[in-house]
Amino acid sequence: MNLSGEMLIGQNNVKGINQAIYAINPANNQTLDPAYLGGTQEHVNQACTLAWQAFDIYRNKSVEERAIFLETIAENIENIGDLLIQRAMDESGLTRARLEGERGRTCGQLRLFAKTIRAGEWLDIRVDEALPNRQPVPRFDLRQQHIALGPVAVFGASNFPLAFSVAGGDTASALAAGCPVVVKAHSAHPGTSELVGKAIQQAVKQCNLPEGVFSLLYGAGNIIGSTLVEHPYIKAVGFTGSRNGGTALMKIAQNRSEPIPVYAEMSSINPVVLLPSMLENNPDTLGQAFVHSLTQGAGQFCTNPGLVIAIKSPALDIFKKSATEAVQQSMSQTMLTPGIFQAFLKSVNTIEQQNKVSLLAKGLVSPDQNQCQTHLFSVDAIDFLNNELLQSEMFGSASIIIECKNMDEAKLVIEQLEGQLTATLHMDQNDMEDAQRLLAVLERKVGRILINSWPTGVEVCDAMVHGGPYPSTSDARTTSVGTAAIFRFLRPVCYQNFPDDLLPDAIKQSNPLKLSRLINGERE
Ligand code: NAP
Repeated sequence: MNLSGEMLIGQNNVKGINQAIYAINPANNQTLDPAYLGGTQEHVNQACTLAWQAFDIYRNKSVEERAIFLETIAENIENIGDLLIQRAMDESGLTRARLEGERGRTCGQLRLFAKTIRAGEWLDIRVDEALPNRQPVPRFDLRQQHIALGPVAVFGASNFPLAFSVAGGDTASALAAGCPVVVKAHSAHPGTSELVGKAIQQAVKQCNLPEGVFSLLYGAGNIIGSTLVEHPYIKAVGFTGSRNGGTALMKIAQNRSEPIPVYAEMSSINPVVLLPSMLENNPDTLGQAFVHSLTQGAGQFCTNPGLVIAIKSPALDIFKKSATEAVQQSMSQTMLTPGIFQAFLKSVNTIEQQNKVSLLAKGLVSPDQNQCQTHLFSVDAIDFLNNELLQSEMFGSASIIIECKNMDEAKLVIEQLEGQLTATLHMDQNDMEDAQRLLAVLERKVGRILINSWPTGVEVCDAMVHGGPYPSTSDARTTSVGTAAIFRFLRPVCYQNFPDDLLPDAIKQSNPLKLSRLINGERE
């Protein structure tokens, strides 16, 4: 399949007319063909209008038809074959193994959402039957189900060109919910986006769905993205990227005459706490395991362990020595884009210049382009508490060890942290009391709490929460990974006093779809 550089607006392939985007291979700074000419506001309008026209038809398709659609997308992505992996490697600098794994995750995720919607729990059916003789007032028959919110704008992420991009978690969960999707492709991987976009476009046709169920737009300079979020036919937004980008889109969405939800996943530094007994018994292995997690994928994960919190002790000195040695031996890795590399350099230089911060170690250097050199810093808790800058995300392999006088000070550090996607406790049985004290604070701060594991690597499953209080996300009540992500794109509707014939099948009295329901307060 040749790349055309065209946008996909429904079933039409359209060349833009605005400033061109070229992918850049970050390993050598070479520009990759073809040019992706940017779309116009009229292109945004066409995609959103088609999405709106498709909405009622698509959301009323049977669950089985939508599930088959998701499975067809997965199959089409797999059928692209090595071309997809090769292009994604060229555009992102990520390794073949990583991208093959990510493709598996992307297709697995689409199939998991197919299974989820077939199971029906997402409809959250509640029935309160009529009580005509209730005193002092009778009760009408009341029934609730969830329906799709409307067309969703999705912003692909740079750090997961497959699993968080055109057919990633946001798109999969929105399509599963019954929402058409308009994707704004990330400018870092336009060719990967086109290949995956065509797989979805083809699946729309194969499944006889209205063409507006899916569109893919390109554009530099934020115009396409902001016009998309402003468009009255867009009813929700999924975004993964920078805090600046996410908050800009939140403001646009709030300033519309009809404000809409923005589900933005932004920045997180994912504190890891080493509790005293665990640290005392395993300082060396913990140091090595930490650096292994820190350096995965050049640290370009939203769950990268950017902060280690521990109490000063001889064991902490051994941990620092072990981590320092591991960092010094860590190979440099190509970052996703020249821009992300520059942002990484700026952030580590800023931290290095902060008063009272020590640079413990730097990783190996390489003459290649856009190389992430691992950085490890340390600072006393008191100095961390007095410097807000030390809480900024350094997107890449960089982390700070916070050295505390005692557990009270460690608790103070955690209390001062902004909202996070994850927090990790390394502990054993003797640390139980300290863990309990910290948990009370951590539950308020983060979306996922881990014991004796590392935050990088996010399982796609029913129980996963990949979310957390601001600024890790814009809405702590939900998740962008796992099957619960579907609830972002649904809303409840109550049907009062309906004749049975007029009710949707999901809430008819005879329960023809055999769904699990809450009837008069009892689970059926
Ligand atoms: P980004 O700059 O936030 O861009 C993400 C997407 O949003 C792109 O499609 C971008 O369009 C669009 N966008 C950004 N600001 C916008 C605005 N004001 N109005 C409309 N659209 C807007 O993120 P990035 O390029 O992926 O990476 C930049 C930095 O973000 C990184 O250095 C890192 O610090 C952070 N980041 C964090 C995570 C995380 O998971 N925590 C993930 C990725 C990146 P264009 O493509 O046209 O620019």
